[in-house]
Amino acid sequence: MTTETHTVHGTAYDRLLDLSRERALLESSSGILGWDSETMMPTGGLEYRSRQLAQLARLTHGLATDERIPELLEEAAAQEGIGPAEQANLGQIRRDHSIATRLPATLVEELAKASSIGQHEWAVARERDDFDHFRPHLEHLLGLSRRKAECLGVPEGGEHWDALADTYEPGMTAAGVEAVFTPLRERLTNLISDLEQSTSKPSNAFNEAECPIESQEAFCRMVAGALGFDFERGRLDRSVHPFCGGSHCNDVRLTTRFQPTEVNDALGSTMHETGHGLYEQGLPFEQVGTPLGESVSLGIHESQSRMWENQVGRSRAFWTWCAPHARSMLGGAIGGLSDDELYQGANIVRPGFIRVEADEATYNLHIMIRFEMERAMISGDLEVGGVPEHWNRLYTDYLGLEVPDDRRGCLQDVHWSMGAIGYFPTYTLGNLYCAQFFEKALEELPGLEAGFERGEFGRLLDWLRSNIHRHGRQYPPGELCERVTGRPLSSEPLMNYLEGKLRPLYGV
Ligand code: ZN
Repeated sequence: MTTETHTVHGTAYDRLLDLSRERALLESSSGILGWDSETMMPTGGLEYRSRQLAQLARLTHGLATDERIPELLEEAAAQEGIGPAEQANLGQIRRDHSIATRLPATLVEELAKASSIGQHEWAVARERDDFDHFRPHLEHLLGLSRRKAECLGVPEGGEHWDALADTYEPGMTAAGVEAVFTPLRERLTNLISDLEQSTSKPSNAFNEAECPIESQEAFCRMVAGALGFDFERGRLDRSVHPFCGGSHCNDVRLTTRFQPTEVNDALGSTMHETGHGLYEQGLPFEQVGTPLGESVSLGIHESQSRMWENQVGRSRAFWTWCAPHARSMLGGAIGGLSDDELYQGANIVRPGFIRVEADEATYNLHIMIRFEMERAMISGDLEVGGVPEHWNRLYTDYLGLEVPDDRRGCLQDVHWSMGAIGYFPTYTLGNLYCAQFFEKALEELPGLEAGFERGEFGRLLDWLRSNIHRHGRQYPPGELCERVTGRPLSSEPLMNYLEGKLRPLYGV
């Protein structure tokens, strides 16, 4: 394989890229096996599949920690003809190698084992609504996570949480997250309480209508294609939990889910995963297997999925285009709904207990609660025994809800049982990046939303391709945000967007 960015063969830089591509071949193979496990594999294949994946993980780790890398990095840095793109590749290879080698093999194994047991025991505890059953496993995972943070290196003046979060969102710190979350929380809780008090609530008829699953699937497939998802370079299948996976930019695997009464969930999930898929398909093929051919971070990835799901898919302009298709393809009760009723049904805001069922406004409060709690748990300020009570108190404070049991409370999410501390905030960071990017797109592309009314989504996709997708990992998330929007991440674009849409809808 050749790339535009290097022509001299056999240099240190070339050899580093070759190692990177070898590793990507293994990782992308795991990606396809992982997709297959969730969509196609008969249950009988489970045991052997986990051995296949474990073997690939071992080989991948071997390449990631290859002892030639430090010397090659040093040589390559002094090499002639290294421009900004090559510098970025070297920087990311250095970062990946450093993360992979800082963790001792024994700790990696202990974490993998604790995570696998933790997930199993969490599922048992959730089923029985018994937090005490999960408690010792969470304590063990937190202890291992603290050790992991120390191995990765707690930044000076920072927290253990920072070291863990940096592996999901490079450069993210607890103090940085708090700085954007605090003003967001204030404006958001005000907005939600105003919406609650509205006397003219939007119509919920769309969410009460049943529809055959086959019609929903054809409809969702049509929408994904209209947004620009290339079915020659990707697929859409069904799974219990929707996701976007696959191998590389020319083989992107999306999944979604269907239930007779949940058309909105199927459409939202499909548009969300399509957004992830459009990002993956937009990564440069000539850089495949190198950092410049990879996505930036979880937060930036989520910004792409949320934009198509929310800023596009819950806009009035989108429903002007989509409503006639929805009525004719979905039929039944939906066939009798007006454009406005469909638009309103897609924008109901209602505080609830479950994060994954939350609307685009209250969702962020669910994330803030998790962020505050995991930060306090990892620092030791919050004892694991106090988790249910603390959780319930925050749900009352932020969402005005009395949590009825731990199953619908602190036992609802899988993340902590996997040892994934520092992951949750990337969801809300995604919403924040998304709103800030979209605000810029509106400014640079006059008439963008009017185009949505005619089913023209290509202008937005082209803008995302040239501003975000094609760069791969060239710029870290914070820098990418400033390059694209001209300013650091702020809570204002998201709040302006939510207030601008929801206040008129609820008449408050
Ligand atoms: Zn997502």
